[in-house]
Amino acid sequence: MGKYDVLKAKGVSRRDFMKLMAVTTAALGLPAAIAPQAAKAVGEALAKPPVIWLSGMECTGCTTSTISTINPSAAELILDTLSIRYHEVIMAGTGETAEQAYAETLAEGNFILVVEGSTPPNEEKDDYCIVAGKPFRKTLLEAAEKAEAIIAVGSCACDGAGIPGASDITQAVGVRELLKANGIATPVINLPCCPVKSQTVIGTIVYYLTFKQVPELDSQGRPLVYYGGLLHDNCPRRGRFEAGQFLEDWNDPEQKDYCLLLKGCKGPKTYTDCASVWFNDNANFCLNAGSPCSGCSEAGFYSKFNPLYEKNDDFHVPGVVGQISPDLIGAGVGAVAAGYLAFSTAGNVARGRIGKKSKEHGGDE
Ligand code: SF4
Repeated sequence: MGKYDVLKAKGVSRRDFMKLMAVTTAALGLPAAIAPQAAKAVGEALAKPPVIWLSGMECTGCTTSTISTINPSAAELILDTLSIRYHEVIMAGTGETAEQAYAETLAEGNFILVVEGSTPPNEEKDDYCIVAGKPFRKTLLEAAEKAEAIIAVGSCACDGAGIPGASDITQAVGVRELLKANGIATPVINLPCCPVKSQTVIGTIVYYLTFKQVPELDSQGRPLVYYGGLLHDNCPRRGRFEAGQFLEDWNDPEQKDYCLLLKGCKGPKTYTDCASVWFNDNANFCLNAGSPCSGCSEAGFYSKFNPLYEKNDDFHVPGVVGQISPDLIGAGVGAVAAGYLAFSTAGNVARGRIGKKSKEHGGDE
């Protein structure tokens, strides 16, 4: 089967495919001239299935999110055509057949390894994640050694602090930490969020196939193109923040689009593109659905960001440390928020986030 026959079989012309590649590369901030090169790289991948997807301690939310696409989207096409060789949820094979597919792909090498979920840190904790009768940690290490590059999807895989690592019981760690402890230097691209968005996964795979190198990353290993801006700076409720209108009563219809800072919103410290690229093929995202940002793209989520639905006393907004409380609402808090704006803008300029790219990660105090 030719490399575009897979697309034809799905009723998608080469022209449509090129258009979808143009959309995907544009989302990456790449010049339009790159689209044909990206299409060629993905086209070549049709004949050379390059992906192993391993699942450790996780809820499968990142898989669900990645495959939640609307027909026919770039994500669906690319996921289908990449022929992911091993993925416990979506692969047709089971049992020994599945393990054989994994072993063969491993032996061939030259694959991209996608990791979903965290891992036990050492032999002592291995019992918390056994897959196919084998400690997941060992499987991850052997695959990581042979992979060209690793994409850690979701908060759990990135730093181990997601839900499976929220208590001390599992002592779960992320991919980068495990590899560092074991002296493995394969590059790791972290794509946090709980769950990751399909556009982020697909865009990163396309970027890697096109350029054969990892995109520019911040200090948490996240591509700047997706995690370079503060959610707070692009939030649709930002005008309410500036006006000092903070939601206190969920049942008051007048407050329904107020700023959710007092309800635990972590947007002022969370670097993500969630305000502009939504989940489920742009169907919606947390703040638009009425939920505060939980900070899931930041290292330390979930435990460091708990409680999620009330303002944590330890959560200080730069320049507004501790000042915003229900008592202040209606008493000039807009000026306080304006003070934050001045502080934030000056800070962003000083740190190079405005005017030029920065490798700094979020979580400023
Ligand atoms: Fe939006 Fe949260 Fe910032 Fe309020 S605090 S403007 S809800 S990101």
